[in-house]
Amino acid sequence: MAIKAYGATAGDRPLEPMNIERRQPGAHDVVIDILYCGVCHSDLHQVRSEWAGTLYPCIPGHEIVGHVAAVGEEVSRFAIGDTVGVGCMVDSCQHCHPCEQGLEQFCENGTTFTYNSPISDPPGHTLGGYSQKIVVDDTFVLKVRHSKEQLAAVAPLLCAGITTWSPLRHWGAGPGKKVGIVGIGGLGHMGIKLAHALGAHVVAFTTSEAKRDDALALGADAVVVSRNTNEMAAHANSFDLILDTVAHSHDLDAYTALLTIDGTLALVGNPEHPHPSPSVGNLIAGRRSIAGTLIGGIAETQEMLDFCAEHGIVSDIEMIRIQEIETAFERMKRGDVRYRFVIDSASLSH
Ligand SMILES: [Zn+2]
Ligand SMILES: [Zn+2]
Repeated sequence: MAIKAYGATAGDRPLEPMNIERRQPGAHDVVIDILYCGVCHSDLHQVRSEWAGTLYPCIPGHEIVGHVAAVGEEVSRFAIGDTVGVGCMVDSCQHCHPCEQGLEQFCENGTTFTYNSPISDPPGHTLGGYSQKIVVDDTFVLKVRHSKEQLAAVAPLLCAGITTWSPLRHWGAGPGKKVGIVGIGGLGHMGIKLAHALGAHVVAFTTSEAKRDDALALGADAVVVSRNTNEMAAHANSFDLILDTVAHSHDLDAYTALLTIDGTLALVGNPEHPHPSPSVGNLIAGRRSIAGTLIGGIAETQEMLDFCAEHGIVSDIEMIRIQEIETAFERMKRGDVRYRFVIDSASLSH
């Protein structure tokens, strides 16, 4: 089926309208009419070829919310009209050890990501959610139980939400735990909301004094301006988990020094240039860890969506038309967004 989309033909080209083909639904496929798609920093990195291996045409978008338009004959979990979501993945092998554990993002045979992954459908790679429709294997389609009014703000949960939820759950954020969130952007603002809702004592770290009140409003119990060494020192040896969402190269020692015994600094961002080598002394003194984490599995994503629906949690967003995407990218690069842009997909038909 032919549909409208927005993408780029090269890394130095702006996004522009495109006509693309989606496959006819197979027996296990769900056809989704896209209502909203969040704008993730990964979209910008990929489409501008700031990450290696971008395949063109590149159509980004992996924070998708929509309605089911059609289902294949073997699909029983979804019906036409259901509200659904699609996140960063659309397929995996389903039989390797990670897949069997619900860790499809680490599939040994290669996760098929929502854009820029090789597939047999034309043009030979996946095309993301800056488009009117998407066709996805039902295993990778998520149920959305939020109200109709919340749906635009649900979209960022599909990447920013799960990327912070998964490490919070894995490292046991909850009552009695002290959790730090570094960086108050698209990811960090979700990290604060989710850690707070899970019952942890939440401390937000920011370089900007101006974000102090915002962080408290999002649910932080305290805010530390990370440039202020006295403020930092006051929290030494106290954190069970620090979730670091900052994607550019920075000093990790400032945070490992704040971990308690067996505490973990979990990194979400993948910096273009490596972080300065961390101090091993900080790690062995206190059996502390530095870890990495990547999105989350499908079952875990459903768990997060259900938790958010139950607790009334959504992202803080600014809605845009697809025609405003280049301006949105520029503003996102400057950190000038509270806290996620979401595309109103109806604008694709204009
Ligand atoms: Zn993303
Ligand atoms: Zn697999």
